[in-house]
Amino acid sequence: MFEVVSRPRKRLFLALILSSLLLACLSTYGIWKVSIPGLSNISAYLPFLLGMLLVAVALAITAGVAGIILAIIGWPTLGVFQGLAWSAINLLFPLAIMLGKIFDIEKERIERSFIEVSNHLVKQKRVRVKPEQLLILTPHCIQLDTCPHKITRQIGNCKKCGQCQVGEILTLTESMGVHFAIATGGTLARQVIKQLRPKAVLAIACERDLTSGIQDVFPLPVIGVLNQRPFGPCCNTRVDIAEVKRAIEQFIQV
Ligand code: SF4
Repeated sequence: MFEVVSRPRKRLFLALILSSLLLACLSTYGIWKVSIPGLSNISAYLPFLLGMLLVAVALAITAGVAGIILAIIGWPTLGVFQGLAWSAINLLFPLAIMLGKIFDIEKERIERSFIEVSNHLVKQKRVRVKPEQLLILTPHCIQLDTCPHKITRQIGNCKKCGQCQVGEILTLTESMGVHFAIATGGTLARQVIKQLRPKAVLAIACERDLTSGIQDVFPLPVIGVLNQRPFGPCCNTRVDIAEVKRAIEQFIQV
């Protein structure tokens, strides 16, 4: 069973985020409007104060979305806009997924588009770290399911037998001097990050894990590389090693 993954497009995520922003602004305005009589009964100033507060929040989120769009089209954006951009993404992402469902757009397609946008934003920042400050993180399913060696706590237990790509990635990361860890889930991944304190992460995973992982560890820069699933999800997954090598080279100082 082979899974064909279409090339993700940034514009799908951007269109959904813009629609979510519009929807959020319209609903907030509607809620504010119907709450005016009740608020006026408490104090004549309350509708105005609440209105100002909601306008300030809406403007901050709009500035965040504008920051993403400007960065995508190549305009330099201030650091404050990047922070706002990520807050806007975190806030609007569930709404974007909901809109996608209404328009019958597969969740994974939206997540792939998000990863593409996120990678683009990270690449634009031109983050460069020393090799020992970069962590390559992959999920456990990249290991051959019948391999008897326990490698999640001790990657050096891999015998590099060639039956899965763990050995290949290990050889690559050793030669480039970067950290390599395998995590069985989000908790272990967070533990590894806490322990190694990398300045950048190259994460290999499926759409769902990359999306939540990238959002979880912000502001740590993460480049996400989607895995390949020739045997279905979570079993003997693979990755394009050339893509991993290219991503490592983009991150490390030479
Ligand atoms: S390459 Fe390493 S992890 Fe993969 S099957 Fe061989 S020993 Fe196990």
